[in-house]
Amino acid sequence: MSQVDRIRLTVLVDDSKNPIRPELTAKHGLSFFIELKAGRHTTSLLLDTGPSADVVLQNARKLDIDLRKVDSIFLSHGHYDHTGGLLGVLKHIGKKVPVIAHPEALEPKFARRKKRLKKAGIPFQVSELQRSSGILTLKRGSTSVAPGVWVSGEIKRVSPFEEVKGFKVMRRGKLVEDYMPDDQALFVRVKGRGLVVITGCAHAGLINTIKQAQKVTGSSGVYAVVGGFHLAGASAGRINATIEELQKAGVKAVMPCHCTGKKAITKFSKVFGKKVQPA
Ligand SMILES: [Zn+2]
Ligand SMILES: [Zn+2]
Repeated sequence: MSQVDRIRLTVLVDDSKNPIRPELTAKHGLSFFIELKAGRHTTSLLLDTGPSADVVLQNARKLDIDLRKVDSIFLSHGHYDHTGGLLGVLKHIGKKVPVIAHPEALEPKFARRKKRLKKAGIPFQVSELQRSSGILTLKRGSTSVAPGVWVSGEIKRVSPFEEVKGFKVMRRGKLVEDYMPDDQALFVRVKGRGLVVITGCAHAGLINTIKQAQKVTGSSGVYAVVGGFHLAGASAGRINATIEELQKAGVKAVMPCHCTGKKAITKFSKVFGKKVQPA
């Protein structure tokens, strides 16, 4: 069975101030540094790069994390708050490193904010990325990036209550609704624990993501979910349905951050008690 012995996840960028480490900078966005140990082998991954490189690099330095150790960078989707730091981080890493993403992550994306459309996609040119030390690895399907570690691939939308709203994309010269096919997650099987699902924003829906994780990794339950769950502004019905599905999956740890929203976190805490720990 393909699995890792240990996983260690450090939040490098998040929207909320860390109450235990107030010296760390908080900014709207997300970046996780993930170390995976399997036998004598350690793999280091960076999931997203926050809105700008300075936040990632400063926080990494304060946390004594050497980003030059990163073996590959995985972009959960194309929004600027997850990709803005990419070029600066690559420059800092200073060696060739794969940048894994869905091809649509690089499209010109927009978000609706109070009736207006705002740019929301990657804040750099694709050509700049091609000229960088990043080895652009674009894939639609799920792939194993290390033993016991998978990139989700395009997430199948199966749950009836998880809809994607409020995003547009410029595709073949036309502004169309963006259902975020590029939204992906990372799946890790941990020895003695089980399946850990790590999301960026979970635009595809947390439950859709979990179902995909179970299929890709061949796991039945879920041990932990970590990341942005995109439930800020979600209806009470959707939050309740999400909780019900998490209970069915037998989840032991819920670690929300970024775009999860206070309302959802409060509800999670009520139902799951100490199993909830804000990331
Ligand atoms: Zn997003
Ligand atoms: Zn986000």
